Amino acid sequence: MEQKGKIGVTTDNIFPIIKKFLYSDHEIFLRELVSNAVDATQKLKTFSSLSEFKGELGDITVSVNVDKDNKTITISDRGIGMDADEVNKYLNQIAFSSANDFLDKYKNDANSIIGHFGLGFYSAFMVSKKVEVITKSYKEGSEAVKWECDGSPEYTISKADKEDRGTDIILYIDDENLNFLEKSEIEGLLKKYCRFLPVPIAFGKKTEWKDGKSEETDEVNIINETNPLWTRKPADLTDEDYKKFYTELYPFTDEPMFWIHLNVDYPFKLTGILYFPQVKSNVDLHKNKIQLYSNQVFVTDSVEGIVPEFLTLMHGVIDSPDIPLNVSRSYLQSDQNVKKISNHITKKVSDRLDEIFRNDRPQFEEKWDSLKLFVEYGMLSDDKFYDRANKFCLVKNTDNKLFTFEEYKTLISANQTDKDDTLIYLYSNSKDAEYSYINAAKEKGYDVVLFDGQLDVHMASLLEQKLEKCRFVRVDSDTVDNLIKKDEEKEVSLTDKQKEELKDTFLHRIPKIEKTEFTIDYKALSENVMPIQITQNEFMRRMREMSAMQTGMSFYGEMPNNYNLVLNIDHPLIKNIMADVDGKEKDAVEKYAEENSTVGQLIDLALLSNGMLKGEELSKFIKQSVDIINKSQS
Ligand code: ADP
Repeated sequence: MEQKGKIGVTTDNIFPIIKKFLYSDHEIFLRELVSNAVDATQKLKTFSSLSEFKGELGDITVSVNVDKDNKTITISDRGIGMDADEVNKYLNQIAFSSANDFLDKYKNDANSIIGHFGLGFYSAFMVSKKVEVITKSYKEGSEAVKWECDGSPEYTISKADKEDRGTDIILYIDDENLNFLEKSEIEGLLKKYCRFLPVPIAFGKKTEWKDGKSEETDEVNIINETNPLWTRKPADLTDEDYKKFYTELYPFTDEPMFWIHLNVDYPFKLTGILYFPQVKSNVDLHKNKIQLYSNQVFVTDSVEGIVPEFLTLMHGVIDSPDIPLNVSRSYLQSDQNVKKISNHITKKVSDRLDEIFRNDRPQFEEKWDSLKLFVEYGMLSDDKFYDRANKFCLVKNTDNKLFTFEEYKTLISANQTDKDDTLIYLYSNSKDAEYSYINAAKEKGYDVVLFDGQLDVHMASLLEQKLEKCRFVRVDSDTVDNLIKKDEEKEVSLTDKQKEELKDTFLHRIPKIEKTEFTIDYKALSENVMPIQITQNEFMRRMREMSAMQTGMSFYGEMPNNYNLVLNIDHPLIKNIMADVDGKEKDAVEKYAEENSTVGQLIDLALLSNGMLKGEELSKFIKQSVDIINKSQS
């Protein structure tokens, strides 16, 4: 029996095109061929369990062999095999026509060709100048068949000698792909794509250390774990099992905080384990990624588009045969199954957090610092997640106490509601930098939220939209009496001339600070309040901060930082200065400002308490202070 024929491919040069386009993804040939071998084996196991196959299953290990001398890679299985008709049908018609369809569909879109997809058996030609398939069906009385193709659309089928059932795929590696004949290369690819396949995969022999060098033993080297954790029943697993699996996936990473074992059958199939990592730095976050599998075959670790972006901060594995792999990313995002999967995962994640919050609040609070970024990211990017998470999202105050939004509202509403019935949330970005303001607020009986996370500015804006009648105001955005306006503001009893004189005095003396501008403000704050305070308008500051984080708002980022220098006209020192400059012309006022050490000293102290006095100005201030002490003692 020898049959010659032409594969149903219309374009003669289809192979070179595929080879060229698929350059970056050549390595997937191994994933495709080993998964086919595993599928054939799984099918036989099913037939055996249904008694359709009555023979011995025996050893069903799939083996991969590299022959460097003959430049071949062979993938062998003891699965169902194929008879001549099946070879014809599956390899000549189906495998090739699907590749042809694929090319037709994507011929104008090189990017999606380069993207991930399953090319199946056809991908063998990405690395081979010739492919041989020697196969024998499991069916009784079957004859072995050999199929050969050199990459042109012509193939040959002939009789073959093969004792055992199953399939050997022999790849004659072409000159551009000789790197795949390196043992370490194949081992690396098997570890990447086949690490959790459900049938044992053998590659070479195990090695052991002997006399200071590594030596091969007689034992076959199985590279995979056939029952990975996510395929097992949660009831059979301990916390240790989950942690151990995490370490296998991400060596040298801190223990995960919690995990979710996903298991869905309907309306789509999905299993997996998602871990909440400890968040120590941004670097760690993006180093470890969620791995996507399809029936235990590794597909990718870029799951964007499949899980919502904020969930990409999680670690672990997702396994679903229902995620279409051979399509472009933009298509994925509009796929209904993928949408359902993504919604399902989001729900599971919020349910799990809610459960821990309700059942073990101390633990939840202890881990909050790591969870926070993740929860806030979710709330900012996904409305549904916001609706679920607002029950367990916490705010921390400057005394390190944690509250839910509801609890916090109850805590502050009596004292922090202003005259217009708006609830004012006071916050600080840094306990150290804003220490004096926090202290002043606390002395007034206010509570201050600590907003020191990366997303907190965005959270403030979001909460202002979501929560009823509220505003977030940083503690240093006004003098403490004005942070929460309870009555109409006291009129300041200064004439325009007096204001002018004060303004000229202080503006003249303020040191130049790059990209910083000051506006003078006058307030009657009583004599025991500091003579000068520096505040910064909440709205302007927030705009600048947001624009620093995102592009497209650079207008605000370019603007100078504007601060208010608030003069307390009730304070005796300010009163003295007012008396000194009373009735003077501008020139005289400026001369006074230059020579009067109190003016300089007061400005410097205000700058100092805001962390704004630096470098030369700071050292001048110190010297001046020593002079003042000296004078007062002599
Ligand atoms: P897919 O696996 O997506 O169906 P492939 O192009 O990889 O597409 O393979 C085409 C068909 O060839 C398979 O469906 C299967 O019937 C058959 N086949 C491929 N490899 C093997 C194998 N190792 N053993 C038995 N049949 C195989």
